[in-house]
Amino acid sequence: MTDDKPHIMLVEDENHLARGICFNLEEEGNRVSHFETAERAIEALEIERFDLVILDVMLPGMDGFHACRAIRNLDPRVPVLMLTARSEDADRVEGLENGADDYLAKPFNLVEFLLRVKGMLRRSSWYRPEPVEEGYQFGDNVVFLLSYRAKTAQGEIDLTEMEVRVLSLFFQKEGRPVQRGELLQSVWGYSSDTETRTLDNFIVRLRKYFEPDPSHPRHFQTVRGVGYRFSRFGG
Ligand code: CA
Repeated sequence: MTDDKPHIMLVEDENHLARGICFNLEEEGNRVSHFETAERAIEALEIERFDLVILDVMLPGMDGFHACRAIRNLDPRVPVLMLTARSEDADRVEGLENGADDYLAKPFNLVEFLLRVKGMLRRSSWYRPEPVEEGYQFGDNVVFLLSYRAKTAQGEIDLTEMEVRVLSLFFQKEGRPVQRGELLQSVWGYSSDTETRTLDNFIVRLRKYFEPDPSHPRHFQTVRGVGYRFSRFGG
């Protein structure tokens, strides 16, 4: 029997919380594999594929930040949602720098959590790749959305599912400002104007990959009070 339910990996050492999360995610039609340590989770990733990883930061043994890096080495694409213990910015930034795609501070609201998971599981619907892939070129970069790769001035890199979604949207709207709310909604599945730094930290990451001088961005421009604009030719 084939099982086409989304397969979610949950790495969480608090069993009480983990049971609640598993129950609710399964109610929503997902299959969940729960691991109490990062080490166990990484072993499982070596043999199995997952559609989403939910990763607690504070774990016995290897912590969530190191785990995220290890997970990225095994599966560069899988969306990673980090559960941070504190609501401090430093934790969020560190998570996103280590390759996570979003974070949620504990204790979190269940409805918000489930919405976030749903958003991250949804495949990019606006993106219809050509059978033979032609790279999207800008500056010194060529991006291959279909194969989740990019050639940059610093060498070749792997892109995550969420990075591919953000880039697809920017390429589609080249030269036009894209509102924060639209980016958060189409890429992460946020329902409303949730206050979050995820997007901004994500842009920092893209600038590091693709900008010759990330502190003076030419391609990924901030549009004050609105959001961001991608400019192919840097003007
Ligand atoms: Ca924990």
